[in-house]
Amino acid sequence: MTTAVPEEARSQIISLVRDFVRRDVEPVAAQLDLEDIVPHDLIDKMKDLGLFGITVPEEYGGLGLDYTTFATIFEELSRGFMSISGAIGTHHILTYVLTHYGTEEQKQRFLPDLASGKKRGGLALTEPGGGTDVANLQTTAEKDGEEYVINGTKMFITNGRYGDAFCLLARTDREAEPNHRGISAFVIERGPGFTVGRDLDKLGYRGLDTCELIFEDFRIPTENLIGGEENRGFGQVMSGLETGRINVAARAVGVAQAAFDAAIKYAQQRESFGKPIAEHQAIQLMLANMATKVQAARLLTYDAAAKKDSGERVDLESGMAKLYASEICQEVAMDAMRVHGGYGYIKESPVERYYRDAPLMIIGEGTNEILRTVIARQLLRRPEYQL
Ligand SMILES: Cc1cc2nc3c(=O)[nH]c(=O)nc-3n(C[C@H](O)[C@H](O)[C@H](O)COP(=O)(O)OP(=O)(O)OC[C@H]3O[C@@H](n4cnc5c(N)ncnc54)[C@H](O)[C@@H]3O)c2cc1C
Repeated sequence: MTTAVPEEARSQIISLVRDFVRRDVEPVAAQLDLEDIVPHDLIDKMKDLGLFGITVPEEYGGLGLDYTTFATIFEELSRGFMSISGAIGTHHILTYVLTHYGTEEQKQRFLPDLASGKKRGGLALTEPGGGTDVANLQTTAEKDGEEYVINGTKMFITNGRYGDAFCLLARTDREAEPNHRGISAFVIERGPGFTVGRDLDKLGYRGLDTCELIFEDFRIPTENLIGGEENRGFGQVMSGLETGRINVAARAVGVAQAAFDAAIKYAQQRESFGKPIAEHQAIQLMLANMATKVQAARLLTYDAAAKKDSGERVDLESGMAKLYASEICQEVAMDAMRVHGGYGYIKESPVERYYRDAPLMIIGEGTNEILRTVIARQLLRRPEYQL
């Protein structure tokens, strides 16, 4: 359970983030996207705002905020430029796993620098052979005295080039049945044997490093095993992914809201047949559907965040929020493009970027296909959903 942030304090934080986005992010978002530039200066400003420590407890140098505020921050950032929210996305999964499962020594060693942004974190879970079937991952961690030796390759790792610390999942027991019981989570930092492979050239979510990471006889101290106990990693990271799904849902709400904002503005300016296109019923129907979808997605997202704040397990709620928000984000971005006509299809218009950014939310933090199976499993288990 998190301590609720008083409404006034939340509004102050949100207005600081909104000002930052309007003043510093929006004017450069198109250029950062087009040229695929990682904005280190903006990321430094996010550190100054405390955004690297949103949910990290105050005793470890963070802001200790609740997940409702966390979601609002991700929504606001993504309304300006979704990529910038990625700098602190999986970073917060690492801080979550350390906060909830790390030993006291690990919390003290890592959390203060992560909370201040001195170190940027990430999550190294997906491999070239597959991300959905996490339990089948092939990266190994073999114990050798006081060290683990890591071998394997991770794929699509956000913050892969500029991040400093990662939550890495690796196999510590090859014989475990079922196979997810043989996986451990480690906190790793760069060193000999840890190399960054390709920088991935993406459709959207540009201006943020996403890379392949290669581990060849990479040695880490046994003290970096999260929680100090082997074969607990799968559950630790899955629990962290609940918050990741709230963050992705909030990002989708932010992008969808930005697409709607652009569409309603344009519809009142652009004229056809002697009147603003907003006066054509076909456009009005689109705007009404867009706004309704955005609001429904927002309510699902903040419902999941509120339940997380009250200490409940939210794999169902965060899954529903992420599923719905990401799907409608793609639909709303497409509708915003329709409203803009040809101008929506060229890079002069931000809706072209929203349309390219939206699919990541469908794929990341568990594809929507696997999420439907997670949701269905919960529906069948939970008595309140049985008639
Ligand atoms: C820009 C970007 C950033 C990312 N950042 C990170 C990161 O920081 N850290 C990280 O660890 N990963 C990251 N990922 C990886 C992402 O989480 C994976 O791409 C995602 O989990 C899917 O894995 P995959 O690409 O291997 O697809 P696969 O697992 O190969 O799936 C391919 C298709 O099969 C479907 N599928 C697979 N199994 C099933 C099933 N049982 N039932 C129904 N459908 C199924 C999937 O839904 C998908 O449609 C990132 C990805 C991208 C694109």
